[in-house]
Amino acid sequence: MWTNSAATNQKTFKIDARLTRHPALAGTVIFEIELRINGLVVAHSFLCDGVMFELRNVTKHFDKTLAVARTDLVFAAKETTVLIGPSGCGKSTILNMLIGLVQPDAGDIIFDSTPLASDNLEKMRQRMGYVIQEGGLFPHLSARQNITLMAKHLDLDPTANAERLKYLCALTHFTTEALDRSPTTLSGGQRQRVALMRALMLDPDVLLLDEPLGALDPLIRFDLQSELKDIFQALGKTVIMVTHDIGEAAYFGDRIILLRQGEIVQSGTIEDLVENPIDNFVEQFVSAQRIVPGLSSEQNDAGSFR
Ligand code: ADP
Ligand code: MG
Repeated sequence: MWTNSAATNQKTFKIDARLTRHPALAGTVIFEIELRINGLVVAHSFLCDGVMFELRNVTKHFDKTLAVARTDLVFAAKETTVLIGPSGCGKSTILNMLIGLVQPDAGDIIFDSTPLASDNLEKMRQRMGYVIQEGGLFPHLSARQNITLMAKHLDLDPTANAERLKYLCALTHFTTEALDRSPTTLSGGQRQRVALMRALMLDPDVLLLDEPLGALDPLIRFDLQSELKDIFQALGKTVIMVTHDIGEAAYFGDRIILLRQGEIVQSGTIEDLVENPIDNFVEQFVSAQRIVPGLSSEQNDAGSFR
């Protein structure tokens, strides 16, 4: 068919399709297709429902500070991907670009096969839930008002909203009696439950979490980690989480992306990073934490994962 059209219209069309092991997806096999007209690439896509977000050749500076350097990155659907690295390495900037709060200087952010743009951002954002370290709740609104803010703004059915809220309270183990309290009167753990409920209220496809447990004391954090993991498993959503804690990354991440100074150093499972670190930085980073939940005691032995 393409040959016929080339013969009649004096134009050449070329479609390249290939099965590839994507390096940024820890070797996952995906189907990639490229359409060229007269040698010019006019469309390029991953033809599978396995990709939720992509960064294509993305760069971001803040004045002279390079936050993200020419990065290609793919986030698999229905998996938990963890962005990790030292403070200032660009983790939050990547998350903020995915949700459209920060615009790249160059390159594209693709969400579910569509580039984010000013005219589709609002609709796209409704498909993303976002939680930040301190929860980011409005102190002058009750927990309930915080959670249902967007649903009300969108004029969704109040009965359905009430049902959804009930479901979310059960999911996050939040007592419904506390719904009418101000976030300022709630504990840190309760505030993060409220923030999570707010992020989940519109039943988003993706959950983006920026150090969601970072401000909690260790015991509460430990409990919330296991609850969060259960919630992720129950929901089966795409989760992208930022942390600087390798133990947390190992506990949650199907895939871990380790960054340094705006660049991806290594991407893979915790086992990949532990067993095949590509350089000293990776080795030191994964060894810097003694206990990695989810690994065997032998692997955690005496501060070494080997
Ligand atoms: P991380 O989340 O890994 O700690 P960030 O993505 O927040 O790192 O920051 C990456 C770099 O960009 C840092 O050097 C930081 O100081 C800088 N940066 C981030 N946001 C801004 C901003 N709004 N204005 C100026 N510099 C920023
Ligand atoms: Mg950050």
